[in-house]
Amino acid sequence: MAKMALAIHGGAGTIVRSAMTPELESEYRGGLEAALKAGWEVLDRGGSALDAVEEAVTSLEDFPLFNAGRGSVFNHEGKNEMDAAIMDGSRLKAGAVAFVRNVKNPIKLARLVMEKTEHVLLAGDGAIQFAEEMDVELRDNAYFFTQHRWQQLEDAIAAGKVQLDHAAGKPVGTVGAVACDSQGRLAAATSTGGMTNKKFGRVGDTPIIGSGTYADRTCAVSGTGHGEYFMLGVTAFDVAARMKYKAITLEVAARETIDHLTSIGGEGGLIAVDTHGNVILPFNSEGMYRASIVDGVSIIDIYK
Ligand code: ASP
Repeated sequence: MAKMALAIHGGAGTIVRSAMTPELESEYRGGLEAALKAGWEVLDRGGSALDAVEEAVTSLEDFPLFNAGRGSVFNHEGKNEMDAAIMDGSRLKAGAVAFVRNVKNPIKLARLVMEKTEHVLLAGDGAIQFAEEMDVELRDNAYFFTQHRWQQLEDAIAAGKVQLDHAAGKPVGTVGAVACDSQGRLAAATSTGGMTNKKFGRVGDTPIIGSGTYADRTCAVSGTGHGEYFMLGVTAFDVAARMKYKAITLEVAARETIDHLTSIGGEGGLIAVDTHGNVILPFNSEGMYRASIVDGVSIIDIYK
């Protein structure tokens, strides 16, 4: 039996202690803890890594402080456009959605793309049409409205900037999960509202297999940070490729990948797990909301 492990993140960026109140911090920790518990329960009862990451990310999407699902940031037009991806390492199968609106849990829609279509990535109106056919839960715009997100948009418009969520001194972020189940199977899932004030149908790294999300029989990876650089660095796949081609450990590979991300100007972090249940959560930003549980022992952390 393999060592079971689950890691989750709630975004990386400029997360500074001075911008945080004890109440807010305990809310974030509560959100991470609930997601960790939801995913771990699946593994603990002998469930698959795939179901565990879907469960954990669904919990994070329902939590309004993270930039995914309910708490998604607003684009330039004041709308929420969400991206998500899920990948099953043992079957080398993936499903992703980009640019979707009003879907309560984009990660569930991504899973359906993987299980029910011959495709990997569905975007925009077509993805919504697919969601309707699959009877996926939809919500009206009011469900996705949070005052602090609206304020972020107004600030970003005033500053003329497209903002990485957590760069605003209001620490909140994209979510993701990676897991290794009792059979040593690996899976990864990531979900995001993208960047505040994004325009022109901008899609980030999250739904791009190999950039923000990747899993095979070597490792499972979920990233968070400035998506454009994760695409340029093919960051999630880079960890798996380094392990395979250089025959190095997950830890060394993940650190090299983050060094490479830094060298090309990218800010962010990732969570990764290998088939032995080793977990690593490296980042080059000031902080990353993160938590992991290995063999029943958990940690939750925010700052460096
Ligand atoms: N990577 C996400 C994107 O660029 C944002 C984030 O991780 O906060 O869409």
